[in-house]
Amino acid sequence: MQLTVPDPSLVLLIGPSGSGKSTFAARSFPPTAVLSSDEMRRLLADDPSDQSASADAFRVLALLVDGRLSRRLLTVVDATNLRAASRRRWRAMARRYGVPAIAICFDLSLASYLELNRRRAGRSVEEWVVREQFERMAAALTDIADEGYAALHLLRDPAEVAATTVSIAR
Ligand code: GDP
Ligand code: MG
Repeated sequence: MQLTVPDPSLVLLIGPSGSGKSTFAARSFPPTAVLSSDEMRRLLADDPSDQSASADAFRVLALLVDGRLSRRLLTVVDATNLRAASRRRWRAMARRYGVPAIAICFDLSLASYLELNRRRAGRSVEEWVVREQFERMAAALTDIADEGYAALHLLRDPAEVAATTVSIAR
């Protein structure tokens, strides 16, 4: 399965912790294109899971996304993107620079999210967090269809995630 992503574009990865977003991003996009909230927390707090650094992390993330889009560079936001308000903010940024916004949704079963989260070496989030994110994912999936993405891709199980490759089209 191949998924084509235009360059430039703003790609939002959407899915709970442990849905495989960072793994997928690392093998699908050039390293500098991928901006992750975990990496911002790591730089700010020496700990990618330090939630007390989230406000700063998202400010820095937004600056980097804005800076890359203003240069018309392919940009991938690797965060859960489960809040409608944060997705809206990213879309507004893409629109400001005339860059299409693409959504890639990791729409897996709760069992898959829990299993993948357990495998996150040394940085599993607590199970109740994944359960809560699963509920928010269901809500996100109903909203996303009407949010006006230039393309919307749904990956429905871990095998599909693993089998999907990205072709970047200039
Ligand atoms: P994120 O929290 O959404 O960024 O998820 P990660 O990319 O960190 O993946 C969570 C865990 O699942 C990691 O331990 C990965 O090694 C594992 N993982 C991610 N994608 C796959 C996959 O396609 N197949 C399998 N078997 N494991 C995966
Ligand atoms: Mg990740």
